[in-house]
Amino acid sequence: MSGNLTTVAYLGAAILFILSLGGLSNPETSRRGNFYGIIGMTIAVLATVFGPYVTAAGLPWIVGAMVIGASVGLYAARTVKMTQMPELVALMHSLVGLAAVLVGYASYIDPAASANFSGAEKVIHEIEIYVGILIGAVTFSGSVIAFGKLSARIGGSPLMLPARHWMNLAGLLIVIYCGYLFAVSPSLEAGMVPLIIMTVIALLFGIHMVMAIGGADMPVVVSMLNSYSGWAAAATGFMLSNDLLIVTGALVGSSGAILSYIMCRAMNRNFISVIAGGFGSDGGKVVTAGGAAQPAGEVVSVTALETAELLREAKNVIIVPGYGMAVAQAQHTVYEITKLLREKGINVRFGIHPVAGRMPGHMNVLLAEAKVPYDIVMEMDELNDDFPTTDVTMVIGANDIVNPGAQDDPASPIAGMPVLEVWKGKTSIVMKRSMASGYAGVDNPLFYKENNRMLFGDAKKMLDEVLVALMAPA
Ligand code: NDP
Repeated sequence: MSGNLTTVAYLGAAILFILSLGGLSNPETSRRGNFYGIIGMTIAVLATVFGPYVTAAGLPWIVGAMVIGASVGLYAARTVKMTQMPELVALMHSLVGLAAVLVGYASYIDPAASANFSGAEKVIHEIEIYVGILIGAVTFSGSVIAFGKLSARIGGSPLMLPARHWMNLAGLLIVIYCGYLFAVSPSLEAGMVPLIIMTVIALLFGIHMVMAIGGADMPVVVSMLNSYSGWAAAATGFMLSNDLLIVTGALVGSSGAILSYIMCRAMNRNFISVIAGGFGSDGGKVVTAGGAAQPAGEVVSVTALETAELLREAKNVIIVPGYGMAVAQAQHTVYEITKLLREKGINVRFGIHPVAGRMPGHMNVLLAEAKVPYDIVMEMDELNDDFPTTDVTMVIGANDIVNPGAQDDPASPIAGMPVLEVWKGKTSIVMKRSMASGYAGVDNPLFYKENNRMLFGDAKKMLDEVLVALMAPA
């Protein structure tokens, strides 16, 4: 394939990626968006493999790597549970970072690659390598730690090292100085030393950055690492002089940055303070649930039968799903109940918090999978004023996102995070297995409110019982 044809194919693929992102912004067009993405990626891979940079001798290696990579990817996609999706995404981000590091070292060591550059061009190429490895290493180690936190292999509370900001600053200064040494190094061997020092610092920085972030800030970290992986890919594109990789990386990087901003707004957090870490901590001391006011009052539990009775008598119902719905895989039963209630003329809507579940859009994906109509799935802001006129709110496996302490208790680790004000309705029913706290590890005063009822048990099992009770003649 000639260079010109490859450029045209890359242009087509870039347009398809932009259309794909556009499609993915709405559940109704997301299928089409995915389809554009698949075609774009197929064109991109074919144009690269058959393009001018791949020699016949390299083809068997590429095909072998693609077969291994595709088999692992296919296996992971088929076996991963919906609740493990966020960890899988974090792991994949780490691979993009690792690829940027490896490509960076390879381009530096490869004599053929460096022979193409001289003078100012060589310096620019080396800066590309240095920055690419830097972003890649931070993305790699940060994503591995995020994987550990999301899969509960590493605890969610922030790690507060003494003088951590000074340590980060010192690391940054060393990285800048090493960058200077690298750029002026007379030989490959001499450049290798500052490059390796910088890589080690970047890896440690990635670990430290994500370890310092408290459980409640993880949604921002997930989208931030998504953005970093895009910039790492763009950096790889610069190192390999591959325009499509630069464009694609920039698309992922900027859309991830926008998502991080949206997540920060949804949690009433400032981006810089999220990166600085330590949310859920106070002056180096981690605030546990005990730091916030202890909820007082009585917990009243109900049965599935009583829940069905309350639903039957309601005119307006709001369902608030959370992480527990994903764990229990209760979305299909939720849909059956919704259908039945709507057939009885009851107004049923869903209230989705922007950080519900464990990844952006987690609940929307589950509800779309269960075929819940999009027009009754509302965002928090669209619905929060309607709770006072709501008869029954069913909170299904959600906890932090309905915690009134976020509004009333300045000492709460999630103080300031906007929440769904379910306690303002006539009756709220919280479905969960126990009185345990959610991801942020905070007690929830909602459970003790007078108008709240608890339906204890696995969400799927309990909802099945509610469905049977609703289907029985009144
Ligand atoms: P939470 O983690 O606050 O609460 C989920 C609740 O579900 C738990 O209290 C648990 O209680 C219950 N649960 C678990 N399994 C079941 C089951 N089988 N049946 C019934 N209930 C179950 O979830 P929310 O969705 O309310 O809030 C999301 C939290 O996750 C926020 O703190 C957010 O910051 C964080 N987060 C979000 C990310 C995102 O991008 N959306 C990324 C990373 C973190 P019990 O054990 O008693 O059953």
